[in-house]
Amino acid sequence: MVPRVVYGKGSFGQLGEILMPKRQHAEAPMIFLVDAVFEDSQLLQRIPAIFEDQIILISASEEPKTAQVDVLVDKILNSYEYLPSGIIGIGGGTLLDLAKAVAIMITNPGSSTQYQGWDLVGKPAIYHVGIPTLSGTGAEVSRTTVLMGPERKLGINSDHTTFDQVILDPELTAGVPRDQWFYTGMDCFIHCVESLQGTYLNAFSQSYGEKAMELCEEVFLKDLPEEESREKLMMASWHGGMSIAYSQVGVAHALSYGLSFVMGTPHGLGNCLVFQHLEAFYPEGVRNFKKMLQRHKIQLPQGVCQDLSESELDTMVRVAMEMTPLWENALGENWESRISAADLKEIYLKI
Ligand code: NAD
Ligand code: ZN
Repeated sequence: MVPRVVYGKGSFGQLGEILMPKRQHAEAPMIFLVDAVFEDSQLLQRIPAIFEDQIILISASEEPKTAQVDVLVDKILNSYEYLPSGIIGIGGGTLLDLAKAVAIMITNPGSSTQYQGWDLVGKPAIYHVGIPTLSGTGAEVSRTTVLMGPERKLGINSDHTTFDQVILDPELTAGVPRDQWFYTGMDCFIHCVESLQGTYLNAFSQSYGEKAMELCEEVFLKDLPEEESREKLMMASWHGGMSIAYSQVGVAHALSYGLSFVMGTPHGLGNCLVFQHLEAFYPEGVRNFKKMLQRHKIQLPQGVCQDLSESELDTMVRVAMEMTPLWENALGENWESRISAADLKEIYLKI
């Protein structure tokens, strides 16, 4: 779990004070990894960079890759005589995951591809802080950092992945474009459905999942004032992340990983594209999802998979099928007898 969190409008202003005791000395910098969307914004001016600190702007137009993490780590290690005092990620799931991965790879040898999987990280990461500017992924609270590698899209899932500190300031999400708000918000909604309908469910996960689901329904099915809606979605994201931290996601995420690996589809959109066709697995969730789509007049792209070659489709199916814990959570221990490659292909071809 994340040991320290501050919440509230304007809480970003506390960052300098929070970092001060974590600074090792003047030559051990804080490295701020910031979504390049903030390049000309006020937020950049408010980052409390001092001494040798570095602000690195990173585009989130593509989701994080293992090669990108490795390059960033080399760059940071080669720029300074001392290890950094900390890594601070500011942005959506992409920047949060990058920050987590870089913090792990500063202290662990080799390439980040070696750590994709479950509990493969040997040494604690350096101090790392997450500051979300987009709500839904739960990346601010989870023990994973999802990376696209040469072979698969898979997280570095470990107890060392989790942030040491999170700052939840709902004001930071004010400028998110409408479609993006919906897609990433639906990531949270889908986390809740998959956790609450999964076989891994337990009282811990359920208590967070139910709260997150209630908040998502308020945000996406009621008319809340904008500020309240932002605050509630930020907390839904947190609770949704807490719910899957102690259970697992399911069919939509497994299929979405395959889609994203082959087509580069962003995570939130990919989940939506898949989820609309999962009535057989999540009937009530899909009904509510369609209501939300209609209410917010979101048009999902169509014919996304129609031009794929057989071998691309096979790769998608392979990547999806490899997500064993997700299938086990969704369909139980005998999941392999309940779903086949042909079933997955059929779903992909509807997208
Ligand atoms: P994102 O971080 O990729 O950002 C999407 C877009 O929104 C980008 O163009 C970004 O620049 C923009 N954006 C972000 N904040 C903004 C703001 N305040 N104003 C204007 N624009 C803003 O999107 P995401 O959906 O948050 O994250 C997706 C990533 O998160 C994927 O890589 C996915 O694999 C990962 N993910 C991780 C976890 C986890 O537990 N670690 C869980 C779910 C998803
Ligand atoms: Zn997700």
